[in-house]
Amino acid sequence: MRTKIVVGNWKMNNTVAESIELATAITEKVGKGIHCCEVGIAPTFLALHEVGKVIEWGDIALCAQNCHYENDGAFTGEVSASMLAAAGCGYVILGHSERRQYFGETNAVVNRKVKRVLEQGLRVILCVGETLQEREAGITESVITSQVVEGLEGVSDISSLVIAYEPVWAIGTGKTATSAQAEEVHASIRATVAGLYGQQAAAHLRIQYGGSVKPSNAAELFAMPNIDGGLIGGASLNVDDFMAIVKAAC
Ligand code: PEP
Repeated sequence: MRTKIVVGNWKMNNTVAESIELATAITEKVGKGIHCCEVGIAPTFLALHEVGKVIEWGDIALCAQNCHYENDGAFTGEVSASMLAAAGCGYVILGHSERRQYFGETNAVVNRKVKRVLEQGLRVILCVGETLQEREAGITESVITSQVVEGLEGVSDISSLVIAYEPVWAIGTGKTATSAQAEEVHASIRATVAGLYGQQAAAHLRIQYGGSVKPSNAAELFAMPNIDGGLIGGASLNVDDFMAIVKAAC
């Protein structure tokens, strides 16, 4: 039995003060007894420390949105996995399509980050997803398989891994994959992982769906057998919407 996981990816939104305010509101609600699924929030790097203090008394995982693949050195403007571990992070989101699309992250770069984050004892949320062009060209499965296989190259233990399937055409667009479309890809990811790590490891792996998840569509998506929660962008910036999505995972 896999515990569902719902993580809010705040992206480049909210000042430190606003992040504290939103984290406080979420913590108050989660603190009132939502133990049926794991909840995480990923604020801007700048707010991690303060948000960490807010959620310390709650049941929420502190997540980062990205990191560098080296632990330290001359990489101006970057943040390392060891810094995130010291800041109290539990998860790092890696390979988000916005990182791939706007910052040129390849599967090889994502793979280096995955290995570094795991080495630091943190958990990884590895994002994969096809563009609209790729879906229309009928190559969704091969694109996702490459992202999974190449993203996990050299990783022997996936017990600290979550995969997020996020079709690029559904992120921030208001268009959501149907539950059947999402389930098909989730099942194929699980099969790929079973081929790499065996049936048992694949059965334990949590695979989130992300892409315009809202209170109105979350329950249907989360009811699918291979969908184990969600990575939530826009809707995670509103406490009521985010909590409605969390409750839909229960
Ligand atoms: C995301 O950025 O991970 C995401 C799923 O965004 P949205 O929910 O806004 O589509």
